This record gives sequence, structure tokens and C-alpha cells, in this order.
Amino acid sequence: MGATAGLPSSSAPSVRTEVYPSTGSRCGHSLRGNRIFVLAPAVTAGKENGIAAGSWIAAVILVLACCCAFDLSRACAGEEEIAPFSERVAQRREMVETQLKGWGRTTITDRSVLDAMLRVPRHAFIPEAQRRLAYEDGPVPIGYGQTISQPYIVALMTQALELRSGMKVLEIGTGSGYQAAILAEITPHVYTIEIIRPLFEKAEQTLKTLGYNTVKTRLGDGYYGRAEFGPFDGIIVTCAALHVPPPLLDQLKPGGRIVIPVGGPFETQRLLMVTKDEGGRRTSTTLSLVRFVPLVRSAP
Ligand code: SAH
Repeated sequence: MGATAGLPSSSAPSVRTEVYPSTGSRCGHSLRGNRIFVLAPAVTAGKENGIAAGSWIAAVILVLACCCAFDLSRACAGEEEIAPFSERVAQRREMVETQLKGWGRTTITDRSVLDAMLRVPRHAFIPEAQRRLAYEDGPVPIGYGQTISQPYIVALMTQALELRSGMKVLEIGTGSGYQAAILAEITPHVYTIEIIRPLFEKAEQTLKTLGYNTVKTRLGDGYYGRAEFGPFDGIIVTCAALHVPPPLLDQLKPGGRIVIPVGGPFETQRLLMVTKDEGGRRTSTTLSLVRFVPLVRSAP
């Protein structure tokens, strides 16, 4: 892992320098552990001549800086990924190819959604015991009676939001944090609310570990949204409500979209896309019939 660069070295012996860029998030993921190796002529070669030694040091610093820039740009281009982003890539490709296109389903064509689904390591959001199911065509249990949604539903809901970079989006039902990570791949302005404390804490930790530091998490009842950060361009509800919560409608920008499953817990629900025009008039479209865990008003 990491770029290797060589200085045109003369007969002088080489020293091997390892540079560890500081831990942190760039282009949505952590570069922790990313190593850059530099082969540089020994600095001692210019001992007798202070100026020559100085130029060697300057040259080494310059090369290090170039290597950092090179390595980061490659990582940003997705050419060189670190674990867990580099793991199970083939399974993610297959998931996108076989589950998100065709088969009588609405085809997912939004490039930003497809790229996010290819990139986010879904398995990292799933408890160890269930990880083998991470890329299956279905929901997976995440504990506390909750599930991470089927990949196709995640993609369908995200595509329906018509999200673009710079837009502000609110998610109700953080669960594992996977949907929030998908949103964060598209825009840095992601707010998410979870009502079950252990899930909230785990998701917060997972998102941080993977470098999704821009996602703003909160523990609480998402029925009320987050008025202090609204209005939002998009609101996605990943648990089924009996009706569209009025506070969420209030917090939606004119022209914005709410994607929400509506219906009771023991029946087939309708996945709705609700829009609000400049005059506050709402239009609702059914995207699919679905089954979601219920939106509850206090933690079980
Ligand atoms: N989006 C999640 C999956 C969500 S499962 C993911 O990507 O993994 C639905 C989640 O909604 C559960 O975690 C559940 O605890 C949460 N939830 C239910 N009612 C809620 C409410 N009133 N406010 C916030 N979260 C709620």
C-alpha cells in the first residue's frame, strides 16, 4: 500500500524513509496506515559542503511533499484504497451489477448512487456474525430487532432524493450508519437521528473509524426532525411511519423531497416520495411496496 518513488540516485548509498500521513479523513475516507516509501541518497554525502547538504535536505523534503500529494490524489481517485474499502470489492461490483440493474426493478442509473454503492464497505456496518450476508440481496439483522435495508432499497431511496453535492440531507433511523455513509459519499451535509442508544453509539463509532467525519449524528426521536439545521433539500426516513410527520414537512425546502415508507408494522407499506412546491403544496408518488421496521416514539 502506498506509492513508491525514487530519486535519480548516483553512487551514494540510499536511505529508506517511511512517512505516515497524519490520521484523518480526506475525500470521505481515512488514510490511516497509508505508507509512502522514499528512496533518497544519504544526506551524509554532502557533509563537507554545508550548501550541498542543505540542498539535499531541501530535495528530500520536496520529494516527500510530492509523494504525499501524489499518494493522496491517487487515493482520492479511488485507485488506492485501504481496508476495509479495499476489501470485498468484487462482491460490491457483483451487488451493483446483479441487484441494482434490471430484474423488473426500477433500474438504478444515478452515477453518484452507483459509485457510492460500489465504494462504501457495507460489511463494515454489519455485526461480525452476520457479515457473510453483507452483499446478499436482502436486509440483514443489526441487533435490537432492527435491520440494515436491502442494498436495492438503499439505492432506490437515495436515487429518489436526487441529491447533489452541497445539498443538505436528513436521515431518520441511523441504524448501522450504512445509509448515512452512502449519503456522505454524495454530499458532506448529512444529519442523522437514531432512537436506540447502543445502535446510535455503534454507528457513530463505525462512521468515525471509516472517516465519515462530516456526518452529524444525534440520539433522539426523529419524528421531530432537526429544525435547528433545516430546511433540508432531502429527508430520508428508513423506518415505517403511520403518516408523514408534519415536522419533517415543515423542515423540507420548497422543491425538496422526502422519501419515506408509510404504513403499519404488520402490513405491506408504500414507499413514498413526497415533494413540496414553492406554495407549500405537496405531491406524493408511490415508488414501491416495501416492508420496514416501524418508526417508534420511544426507545424499546
Ligand atoms: N438506515 C439504517 C437502517 C435503519 S433500520 C441503516 O442504514 O442501517 C430503522 C432504524 O430506525 C432503526 O435503527 C430504529 O431504531 C430507528 N428508529 C425507529 N424509530 C425511530 C425514531 N422515532 N427516531 C429515530 N430512529 C428511529
